[in-house]
Amino acid sequence: PKKDCNICPEWDCQNVNDFKNVWVVGEVDENGISEPSLQMLTPANKIASKLNTKIVGLLVGYNVKKYAKEFIEYGADEVIVLDDERLSMYSPHIYARTIAELAKKYKPAVIFISATMKGRELGPYVANTLRAGITADCTDFDVDEKTKDVLLIRPPFGAVLLAYIKTPTRRPQIGTARPNVFKLPPRDPNRNGEIIEEKIDYIPKPKARLVSRKLLPINEVPIEKADLIVSGGKGLGNVEGFKLLEELASKMNAAVAGSRKAVDMGWIPHEKQVGQTGKSVKPILYLAVGISGAAQHMFGIREAEVVVAINNDPNAPIFSQADYGIVADYKQVIPALIKEIESLKKQ
Ligand code: FAD
Repeated sequence: PKKDCNICPEWDCQNVNDFKNVWVVGEVDENGISEPSLQMLTPANKIASKLNTKIVGLLVGYNVKKYAKEFIEYGADEVIVLDDERLSMYSPHIYARTIAELAKKYKPAVIFISATMKGRELGPYVANTLRAGITADCTDFDVDEKTKDVLLIRPPFGAVLLAYIKTPTRRPQIGTARPNVFKLPPRDPNRNGEIIEEKIDYIPKPKARLVSRKLLPINEVPIEKADLIVSGGKGLGNVEGFKLLEELASKMNAAVAGSRKAVDMGWIPHEKQVGQTGKSVKPILYLAVGISGAAQHMFGIREAEVVVAINNDPNAPIFSQADYGIVADYKQVIPALIKEIESLKKQ
């Protein structure tokens, strides 16, 4: 920053060396800090050790202070808490404004936000309020050893390349990553750290008022949490094919998922799409039916323990990555599987 310069607001005139620490924004729901935001402590740990700096957890909301210790046990060195009744209702523009105020005060070098439904909305709001950049859906983070810029790594153009993105003249660098891209770090109840309680005088009033909240009935676990997944692709041919998959899934207590083509055909909702523009899953068993195995789909099942593919084309690319493969028409295999499970249950 130049002396006696009045051209731009103080915040815009940055010295990147003033910015330290890696922040992880903790998303809190009725069960505590959400697992996806705790997963962000894993890359935070890597970056903080390369930058020789601290990991700071950020808890913004109402009745959130009680979760600060949990943040520390999972790996935060300290936690900044802004616990305020005026934040009892989540609103992206209010939360972003308060996070931005805290960032202006503490000057973090990098902010990590999990790309949950809320995080996908909050991240760009925070970046915009801070006039900072944001790299969404990163699959890794690293540090440029020479410049100490954080490298936000993501696969553009359908996962055929890896882009290393940095903002050398602007801080904080903001990155999001999807749930399950990083593992949950181990919890250590003996870890200690400082809890800093913050107050903010002005919190804007919400522009919208929440009148009521209705949770949609959930008749199966979300795919990102399921241990068993039966997933269908374009090869199912029609929505009837999915009905058959659902029947098998209910016998196995599995969740049903699908490829992007299946979503595009309207056979399954987008929240059940697996892959680069869908969700990353980590089941014990992933049964891929009528799915060819495109890179963008396989990206979402990197963490699956066992992948079984059913496809009538012996040359389908999925066979080179699956642990087990069945070359057959699914219309023969799935009813046979259902029959077999039923007879096993009777025994
Ligand atoms: P297809 O590729 O058409 O494969 C259908 C398969 O079914 C074939 O292998 C065929 O042999 C088999 N089959 C046909 N009939 C039968 C039968 N009777 N029994 C058994 N097998 C049968 N895709 C995703 O899935 N998730 C993503 O998140 C995603 N993101 C993308 C992001 C970008 C930027 C781009 C460019 C693409 C993305 N895609 C994604 C699309 C991806 O490239 C593929 O087009 C898609 O995954 C293919 O879906 P599919 O395997 O269902 O269909």
